[in-house]
Amino acid sequence: MPLSIHQFAIGSDNLGVLIHDDATGKTASIDAGDEAPILAALKETGWALTDLFITHHHSDHIAALQPLKKRFGARVVAPAADVHRIPDIDVAVREGDRVQLGETDFTIIETPGHTSGHIAYYCEAAKVLFAGDTLFSLGCGRLFEGTPQQMWASLSKLARLPDDTLLYCGHEYTLSNARFAVRYDAGNEALHRRITEVEALRAKGEFTIPSRIGVEKATNPFLRADEPALAQAIGLAGRPAIEVFAALREAKNKG
Ligand SMILES: [Zn+2]
Repeated sequence: MPLSIHQFAIGSDNLGVLIHDDATGKTASIDAGDEAPILAALKETGWALTDLFITHHHSDHIAALQPLKKRFGARVVAPAADVHRIPDIDVAVREGDRVQLGETDFTIIETPGHTSGHIAYYCEAAKVLFAGDTLFSLGCGRLFEGTPQQMWASLSKLARLPDDTLLYCGHEYTLSNARFAVRYDAGNEALHRRITEVEALRAKGEFTIPSRIGVEKATNPFLRADEPALAQAIGLAGRPAIEVFAALREAKNKG
């Protein structure tokens, strides 16, 4: 694989990721939530930071942007839609744009919903997606700025990526997401298998991320709003997927 990936915890439930282009040594941090754990991860890997790939403007994703840019002179790649609220952007990107980390290419996928400017970074060669706070394992981001229609469209775009695509995201929420998912998809064997796996990983103190797109399509209720069983479970049998999705998101907000 042309890309090496190092994942680490930031605070109680944020996930940090460093990605390293083996050919050139270029290294990006996906988001920049907190400087100390990112510096520790750089020290552990021995990689030198050259880039920051930002998914959205929330402070737990950009609080360390300026300190890291100052310290390393890192190039900041961020959504063009957020130039008014993310500082020091060097490369503002939109849907379909390509951005390079050394010899590795990433495609930008706009995923409005959690925030209006949110983007994901997809590397086809390494089969890996960095989805920020749009798609979590067994969950999805809250709709702070977008409509259910926007978020369903964004999630549907990510669901069209190849099943074996690795999914990295901004938070380790999988276990609590699992408890919600099983309430509305109790008959799903793939979900039960995933929950067993997730419980075992968490019991060992390990991450449940990365997941895979194919696993999420089979288990994540927010990608399965078009399944009759979920519509039935939330009292919307026969209704369109978008209504089921909106009702699931609303139910999740209530805990
Ligand atoms: Zn966020």
